[in-house]
Amino acid sequence: MSTHPVRYRITPVQPEAHLFEVTCTIADPDPDGQQLSLPVWIPGSYLIREFARNVVSIQAATRAGKVAVRKIDKSTWRCAPVTGRLVITVTVYAHDLSVRSAHLDRSHGFFNGTSVFLRVHGQEHLPCEVDIRRPAGTAYRAWQVATAMPRLDAPAYGFGLYGAADYDALIDHPVEMGTFARTSFRAHGVPHDVVITGRQDADLDRLARDLKRLCEAQIDLFGRPAPMKYYLFLVTALGEGYSGLEHRASTALLCGRDDLPQRGAKDMGDRYRGFLGLCSHEYFHTWNVKRIKPAAFAPYDLRQESYTRLLWAMEGITSYYDDLMLVRCGLIDESGYAELLGRAITTHFRTGGRLVQTVEEASFDAWIKYYRQDENSPNALVSYYLKGSLVALCLDLMIRQRTRGRKSLDDVMRILWERHGRTGVGLDEDAVERIASDIAGTSLKRYFELALRSTDELPLTALMAHAGLDLHLRAATGSSDKGGLSSKQGSKPAPLTLGARTTEDATGVKLTHVLTNGAAMAAGLSAGDVMVALDGLRVTARNLEQRLSRYTPASQISVHFFRRDELHTTTLSPRSAPIDTADLGLRNDAASKRRRHAWLRR
Ligand code: ZN
Repeated sequence: MSTHPVRYRITPVQPEAHLFEVTCTIADPDPDGQQLSLPVWIPGSYLIREFARNVVSIQAATRAGKVAVRKIDKSTWRCAPVTGRLVITVTVYAHDLSVRSAHLDRSHGFFNGTSVFLRVHGQEHLPCEVDIRRPAGTAYRAWQVATAMPRLDAPAYGFGLYGAADYDALIDHPVEMGTFARTSFRAHGVPHDVVITGRQDADLDRLARDLKRLCEAQIDLFGRPAPMKYYLFLVTALGEGYSGLEHRASTALLCGRDDLPQRGAKDMGDRYRGFLGLCSHEYFHTWNVKRIKPAAFAPYDLRQESYTRLLWAMEGITSYYDDLMLVRCGLIDESGYAELLGRAITTHFRTGGRLVQTVEEASFDAWIKYYRQDENSPNALVSYYLKGSLVALCLDLMIRQRTRGRKSLDDVMRILWERHGRTGVGLDEDAVERIASDIAGTSLKRYFELALRSTDELPLTALMAHAGLDLHLRAATGSSDKGGLSSKQGSKPAPLTLGARTTEDATGVKLTHVLTNGAAMAAGLSAGDVMVALDGLRVTARNLEQRLSRYTPASQISVHFFRRDELHTTTLSPRSAPIDTADLGLRNDAASKRRRHAWLRR
């Protein structure tokens, strides 16, 4: 058996053509014919992406000459049997600007190992070395490298030799190359870097200060020392964007450049608060999902879907803690947190699919549903992020209530960390439920049956009231009404609704989603239809709400609409807006305040 490391070399050979050349050198290839493959999915993003589709060419050679390579399935190649060192060379097309794959042009390069590094079958356990090369030409002289992959022989932020303990580690360290902005801080002694690609003029000092508070609060939650020796936030700033992917010692994020804090500003705007929430989310994954993980992910099988019903815990608990950590470390106040929670509950109540799909089903079917949404998704799907976060919220408040404030979800997370995170032992599908019941000192079976395996509503109102937050439900006052804080609401009357989500279209108003049992569905309208007139008057995205406000729920409106290129007419009766908007208010009696502070303050 080989003990030589697998050696990779990655070169941006033609940035303008978006091509990386990647070689893989195997000292002791399989004498029966070496097999190699690329993953079909990337951990953290539960969709079959078939990264091999971007392999443009592949060649193999030994010192003796060219070796035949034959493809044996969509992601796997087999080389002819050889003796001695085997070198495989692939050219990979990289032009997907997302956190999940690879992107290369003349301004920068970014890649996840899952897109570019071949898995050498039978040698996955061996150490890997990667020579990261600078593109040829003077235009690239100023480029630097940012990755959490340990340096073997490379200057700080430089091109050169990097290393990983095995293939699993190799593909868990995304790499950015280019001319990026950078800021640094230490969180409980651990060096952290923030690297930002893309034009921006952010207040980097404030960003570093705020992230330090946030990261230290999370390290404190799970206990020192932190599980990583170094951590990297790899940020790409764009016009608009909001996504992230977690890794063991880094995260790749896409954000809008105006989400970053403005120089001179001191307030916490919605956009920056959202960005900090994203950072908080991905950082929390350093523990929850990267180390505390379902048995189905320990180890990952990247050849096919890996099914688990635990994404509510991996993504939902993480989504609960992302904003919670912002208030606990003092970056936002209790009202700010209540507003975020009110908006989250509103989004949940506006998703009819919560009455159709359980959160466990949502988790199991993530591969074909949550990650492949279509016009019917609001009617048929529930989000394991959002509902999962509300399940976690109720669980936390329930444990606090039943133990009279002595225990909380924090204790559950610490036990998960001790038993599964530190040890690498994957979670059984019922592990979280068992540990939570142990901590609560009483069986939570009935709660979990309701929360995870039924579509009944969660006991939000009573639990939040006990924890010092009043939940009020009402109808939306308009399309921009997201719910939030009671104190911020005026007394505008609720408008009538169509029961559809719409978007602007050159000819009128396009229906993107027709909601179950709404007015549009009753009138026979479908997603894709374009409404052009209501009672003979032109309708646009801009005047739709105003036009509807002239009617009552008993009205019969004649609607002209295009389906494909055919003009149709139907009659629509608008409905009163549903009670689907949540506002939260802070309770001010002493007991409520005490319990709320115990929950939201450190
Ligand atoms: Zn996540």
